[in-house]
Amino acid sequence: MIPYGKQDINQHDIDAVIGVLKSDFLTQGPQVPPFEKAINDVTQSEHAVAVNSATSALHIACLALGVGKGDIVWTSPITFVASANCALYCGASIDFVDIDKQTYNLCPIELRKKLKLAKQQNKLPKVVIPVHLAGQSSDMQKIHQLSIEYDFKIIEDAAHAIGGKYQGKPIGNCRYSDITVFSFHPVKIVTTAEGGVATTNCPHLSASMQRLRSHGITREESLMTEPSHGDWYYQQLELGFNYRMSDLHAALGISQLKRLTEFVTKRKAIAALYSQKLAGLPIILPKQLETTDSAWHLYIIQLELDKIDKTHQQVFNELRENGIGVNLHYIPVHLQPYFQNMGFKAGDFPNAEKYYSSAFSIPIFVQLSDNELQAVISYLNIILKEKL
Ligand SMILES: *Cc1c(COP(=O)(O)O)cnc(C)c1O
Repeated sequence: MIPYGKQDINQHDIDAVIGVLKSDFLTQGPQVPPFEKAINDVTQSEHAVAVNSATSALHIACLALGVGKGDIVWTSPITFVASANCALYCGASIDFVDIDKQTYNLCPIELRKKLKLAKQQNKLPKVVIPVHLAGQSSDMQKIHQLSIEYDFKIIEDAAHAIGGKYQGKPIGNCRYSDITVFSFHPVKIVTTAEGGVATTNCPHLSASMQRLRSHGITREESLMTEPSHGDWYYQQLELGFNYRMSDLHAALGISQLKRLTEFVTKRKAIAALYSQKLAGLPIILPKQLETTDSAWHLYIIQLELDKIDKTHQQVFNELRENGIGVNLHYIPVHLQPYFQNMGFKAGDFPNAEKYYSSAFSIPIFVQLSDNELQAVISYLNIILKEKL
């Protein structure tokens, strides 16, 4: 089966990890600051806090922004569950903003409508988390404008989007947000096996997230409540976690980031070829806004079901039976049983549900061979013959 996504590990990556294994530090040590610096360089941001997953990064990003009991966080229903769970970890409540029908990202028009209503009801969100689905940035300038008008903070969930651009600038520069979060899970653009990072331009948010990733502990005397007792001394100032990134993971990340441009270029080339070769089929191809330059984590197509004699599931199964590892990103989060138990129900976010009924992701990754690419294209052609 050709998977929908896959990591690309070379000898340099392997040597980097072995180098750490032979060194004195295994857990968070000398590899983490240069990894964070490399992230700052790539994203043109001031601060980066590396952690053990994007889920952890979303959690401490929410905490650093003061999310707690009684607060409300909004995100997109078309995302991985982690974008919503981070609010729940903090004791806050979660709600969703329906997606734009063309980009499948959180829709700024829906956001404006929902904010207007929420203001009347005194239920405005503290934080909004736009998700850059498939690597294409959300419409950040509009969302940022609304954040000024309605006084909320923004965390960009850019798990899919390292190496992507918005308005010609790297995603993660936090021009229109407080914090941006990236994931380094193997299926994402670059990997550290497991890992994540939060970027920000605010020194206070950065310092707060640094403490939260390691038990809420500080060794900085200026932050302590009394003079240091000696070199061994530290103080726990708040309730933090063990979310540290290990040196093994950071070394892999440093090595992988060196090939970021190569990775994104390859993905772009695959996307361009799909867009050219699949243009005649009864499917909707991914729409790109002029202001965005996607990192192409996913290549998502939507079936035009009124033009074919098969159901969504039939097409999906036939592709899998022929070795094309399609997948579906994502099941609308509000339809998960855990969220339905909170009161969400089918019909709440119609654009997201419509998308779910016809979308899937086709293989896109750096090592996808020409033969495999051709196989994807020909099976789609065979399976999606238009009805007469
Ligand atoms: C992968 C992903 C996450 C979680 O990333 P981890 O590093 O696996 O915790 C969060 N949000 C989105 C949109 C993702 O795709």
